[in-house]
Amino acid sequence: MNIFQEPDIELPEVRYTLQETILTEQKLRDLCRWWQGVLGLSDWYIIVKIKRFYDMPHDTQGACNWTFSRREALIKILDPNDYDPNCIVPQDMELTLVHELLHIRHAPYEPGENANGWLHDQALEDTARALVAFKRNCQKT
Ligand SMILES: [Zn+2]
Repeated sequence: MNIFQEPDIELPEVRYTLQETILTEQKLRDLCRWWQGVLGLSDWYIIVKIKRFYDMPHDTQGACNWTFSRREALIKILDPNDYDPNCIVPQDMELTLVHELLHIRHAPYEPGENANGWLHDQALEDTARALVAFKRNCQKT
């Protein structure tokens, strides 16, 4: 038996498509619990808050602070009222939530603010888009 044989199933085409997704703080908290289970973060205590631009780091849609030893984190998602209307990419608050959760998942080996930090952040964004696309694809069927 060849264990490396491809599964005999037809996989659907799954791609993240830009989609405005505006959520309430309560819905974000519900989604956070669900995504924590998916990402293996169920033992973390994570608070999600919608914040105005002046409570966020400059030019960000999401931010996250964590204490790894206590498995506690605060995720801030930008208030839609402050989202730049000229931005080509629509605001997707669930995507931002998953991106920030991936930062927590990768917390032990975050590269920080060096050159690789940008590459690492881009990899997290690509992974977040893939995960959100799979979830939305499953919801369609
Ligand atoms: Zn990031």
